[in-house]
Amino acid sequence: MSMIYDVVVVGGGAAGMIAAGRAAELGAKVLLLDKNKQLGVKLLISGKGRCNITNAEDDLKQLINFYGKKGKFLYNAFHNFDNFKVIDFFNNLGLETKVERGKRVFPKSDNARDVVKSLIKFLKINDVEIQLNSEVLQLIEKNNIIQHIILKNGNIINAKKFILTTGGKSYPQTGSTGDAYAWLKKLGHTIVDPKPALTPIKLKEQWVSDLAGLSLKNVEISIWSDSKIKSFFGEALFTHTGMSGPIILNISNLVDLKTKQYITIDFKPALDYQKLDLRIRKDFQEQSSKQFKNSLSGLLPKRLIPLFIKLSQIPENKKVAEISKIERKALLKLFKEMKLTISGIIGYEKAIVTSGGLDLKEINPKTMQSKKYSNLFFAGELIDIDGPTGGYNLQVAWSTGFLAGVSVID
Ligand SMILES: Cc1cc2nc3c(=O)[nH]c(=O)nc-3n(C[C@H](O)[C@H](O)[C@H](O)COP(=O)(O)OP(=O)(O)OC[C@H]3O[C@@H](n4cnc5c(N)ncnc54)[C@H](O)[C@@H]3O)c2cc1C
Repeated sequence: MSMIYDVVVVGGGAAGMIAAGRAAELGAKVLLLDKNKQLGVKLLISGKGRCNITNAEDDLKQLINFYGKKGKFLYNAFHNFDNFKVIDFFNNLGLETKVERGKRVFPKSDNARDVVKSLIKFLKINDVEIQLNSEVLQLIEKNNIIQHIILKNGNIINAKKFILTTGGKSYPQTGSTGDAYAWLKKLGHTIVDPKPALTPIKLKEQWVSDLAGLSLKNVEISIWSDSKIKSFFGEALFTHTGMSGPIILNISNLVDLKTKQYITIDFKPALDYQKLDLRIRKDFQEQSSKQFKNSLSGLLPKRLIPLFIKLSQIPENKKVAEISKIERKALLKLFKEMKLTISGIIGYEKAIVTSGGLDLKEINPKTMQSKKYSNLFFAGELIDIDGPTGGYNLQVAWSTGFLAGVSVID
């Protein structure tokens, strides 16, 4: 007779590690499985390798608002283990943290590896058994109870309770390939159509590729269809096929390819049209004998100058003193509302998160327990909730993982 665990956790990412560690801390015999050869692979690449652990928003209601309508599902999980408890949790494991712009919390070391190390320490302290290179293929049920799971290598694992933390299906090379969607459908659960979210966007204008790698700070980018949908302030980045960076990732969730949409970039959001016009006129007066192409360096990063020259249609060799008011207005418009056409989003390969997943209506928000199978629990990106960039997605993984870990204890 093989060993029967109290709890088996499937998926050793953020949610799975915290769920497994917490259940073990409360006395359960826990096995944590992952198909990768190491734990926390996605965590290692999160926050560009720095891991934006959470967001230090201190108003719980405000924090919940960031998740839109579905946010209210999180009240119990956040109440039980909120963002400040997450920070304390890591600090107590010896990981120092710091808060950056936008209340984003990072390890002081700027190294995601230290976050994973802390979690592994948590697992070890609490005697969680870890099995790597262990891909789960299916869950077997009988009379609305999960009986056991079957691994790819043929092994059967028995447990009293199961927690699924297999994540979404974005960045599939990290092991998150959406496997549990099929298992859950087979068990009669509902999967809300998964979609890549927080992804770079593709733009029609071919010239963007000339700017690939150029990052913009303190810009305001708006997304439009017939009218303005929303504006975002912050950082963005040109790529070979379009744009990426924090504000673009958030914009991507508003992209609807069924309608014609475009973005406008305001390169100088701190100055309104009038103030910027005054500034340009002052620059032009000071440089009146220069050629146009040599007059823009005080206003723009070097790599953007050729683009502004081309799009303004002002001859590059024209003397600044000879630039007409109409030409200057055209230039002004480029600074304040450069227009680019959205042609698509990049898919799961580069999506930070997956929206959709296990229907919230089928999960008890107080316990993370399945409403169909009493010994089945869930946490993390697998469930149908996602947030913007800024530490919000990992906060879901920590809070729901912790709650699932507590709830499996009788
Ligand atoms: C590039 C990138 C950067 C990000 N940066 C941030 C950030 O800075 N801050 C933030 O809040 N969020 C960030 N996110 C989002 C965040 O990382 C995820 O939302 C979070 O990691 C989800 O955690 P999870 O535990 O639910 O799932 P995952 O971390 O995806 O873990 C799921 C685990 O399950 C395992 N698994 C899957 N199927 C099986 C199977 N059949 N058998 C066994 N094991 C299986 C996988 O191998 C994987 O290890 C980022 C995401 C990406 C892709």
